[in-house]
Amino acid sequence: MRRPGVKTAGYLAVLLGSFVLAMVAGWLGAPIDNHAYDWMFRSHQTSWPPESIVLAIDEQTLNRGGVPRMRRILAEGLDLLAPARPKVVAVDLILADAGDPAEDAALEAAFRRTPNLVLASDLMRDARWEDPLPLFARSAAAIGHVHADLAFDGVSRQVPLEKAAGRVRRWALALEAYRLSRGAAQITESPDDLEIGGTVVPARWSDSRLLRIRFLPPGPDGRSAIPSISIAELRRNPRLAERFRGKVVFVGVTAVSAAATDRFITPNSDGEQMPGVEIHAHIFETLAHGRFLTGASNLSVAALCFLLALAAVAAFAFRGGWQSYALAALVLLCAHMLPYELFARNVVFPYVAPLSAAWLAAVGSGTFQFFIVRRQLRFAEDERTRYQQAMHFVTHEMKTPLTAIQGSSELISRYKLTDEKRKQIADLINSESKRLARMIETFLNVERLTAGQIELKREGFPVSEVLDACLERARPLADRKQIRIEAGAAAEADLTGDRELMEYALYNLLNNAVKYSPGETRVRVESAAENGWLRLSVADQGIGMEPHELKRIFQKFYRTSRAVASGEKGTGIGLSIVQQIVALHGGRIEVTSEPGRGSCFTLVIPARLAERAAGPQNA
Ligand code: ADP
Repeated sequence: MRRPGVKTAGYLAVLLGSFVLAMVAGWLGAPIDNHAYDWMFRSHQTSWPPESIVLAIDEQTLNRGGVPRMRRILAEGLDLLAPARPKVVAVDLILADAGDPAEDAALEAAFRRTPNLVLASDLMRDARWEDPLPLFARSAAAIGHVHADLAFDGVSRQVPLEKAAGRVRRWALALEAYRLSRGAAQITESPDDLEIGGTVVPARWSDSRLLRIRFLPPGPDGRSAIPSISIAELRRNPRLAERFRGKVVFVGVTAVSAAATDRFITPNSDGEQMPGVEIHAHIFETLAHGRFLTGASNLSVAALCFLLALAAVAAFAFRGGWQSYALAALVLLCAHMLPYELFARNVVFPYVAPLSAAWLAAVGSGTFQFFIVRRQLRFAEDERTRYQQAMHFVTHEMKTPLTAIQGSSELISRYKLTDEKRKQIADLINSESKRLARMIETFLNVERLTAGQIELKREGFPVSEVLDACLERARPLADRKQIRIEAGAAAEADLTGDRELMEYALYNLLNNAVKYSPGETRVRVESAAENGWLRLSVADQGIGMEPHELKRIFQKFYRTSRAVASGEKGTGIGLSIVQQIVALHGGRIEVTSEPGRGSCFTLVIPARLAERAAGPQNA
């Protein structure tokens, strides 16, 4: 029997299972997503002329004074820059502690001469701001935070544009530098973005206003795209100051010895670290360039993963053979291409979740389809074998009456026979041809019933009539095996439908009960009407059936191994017709059986209580 419900449920289970697993995989697969991000990042590089420049405090610069003299060096550097009138100067140094008074005074003086100065502040471990000394802060046009947001693999991919601690909130150093470079007085906030002088920066408040940094690709010589000139170089060649004209300058330490912790790996850098000050310049460039990468929302990720899984499952649920595989391959291709294509459109989409959704759904439903097809094939093969066996039996059975008819007709034509003998032979021919006709009729009926071509008659008839007719037909068979048929009183009820078909059904049960019982046993027929239903049961003490066989005996051509072993002839179609007849009458069949002890078949059919009384039936 084909059950579409099981198939649909199977595909739905695959769909939901693969979706849920893909979501979990997406969550666990963040490291892979990060790798994929870096790879996509590198393959979607764009370059533009930078607006910023780094004034570096490198090893060479420090050699002249070392870390303790940093503030004097910085002051000197700023003074060297001053003639070039840079647009903004952002200093990536923490100036929270008082230093040598003379040095501090020199730096303060240099700061005072620097317009659009941005100073840095960092968050300390105890969540307090490490602000510049008031002495320095006085000259600053803004103070920006330099807090890094690193992924767990230590790669710097994004920056929180906003950072709050206690009551104080700070914008990122590079954002402040950008604001000043655009002459904007303030940053306008909305839950989804920030607006600075007409530029809208997508940075959701719910995501800590994270901005993905578009690192400029390094030049062909492998050098950073952001130009960098050290204070030592500037000192040697003051004319280099011209390179800073009108630029946004980021000043900071690049010397490894002095700023070992302020260096980070970037998606571009192939494991090599980039000094923090340069990263600030890249953040500034990202803002200035204005092509922002935005992350797809969780909802859209989930929705797209679900759609991919749905498409993969549909490929197998609604198509078969090579078409399924071709469609599934297409879905997989889409899943692979999707994050890449979206990245080209500046949308960051995870890789693991959609890929897992598509693969799990495709493999899952492909496997499921394979098993369904195999089951159907086995089913079809079983049916064909049973059909062949039945045909074999039928043709064999037909031979017997045909041979009898043939032989008898020859007898009549060849020999001169007495009238009595002729009559006997004529009767034989008549009964054998009737048997043949009945056999053909039965077979045709099966086909017609199956195809729904038989129209059911709708007449009312008492249960007792059907019972009597069947008992009368079955008794000679039973007598031959010395089986006693015991019949209880017929229920006083009327059935509505086709009397002949009903008789066929009941006779079949009686016939089976006798056929599959050893001699000298009993067959009991009971009937009872209750609540509009007639229960008509035939119980025998015969060979019985295994529990797993009970479901299959109503399949066409199915015979139990015990029935075959018993040597009784059969086609295995009788019960399938009985079941159809009962169903056509709005009823059902219940079977109980125990191997070696007997079986009981009960027809449960809608019935009306009869007004007249029926006489008791006895064997
Ligand atoms: P068949 O022509 O083989 O009797 P049916 O469709 O009438 O075909 O029955 C199908 C199978 O169900 C039988 O072959 C037999 O294995 C089993 N069966 C039916 N009735 C009985 C019964 N009373 N006792 C044991 N087995 C039965």
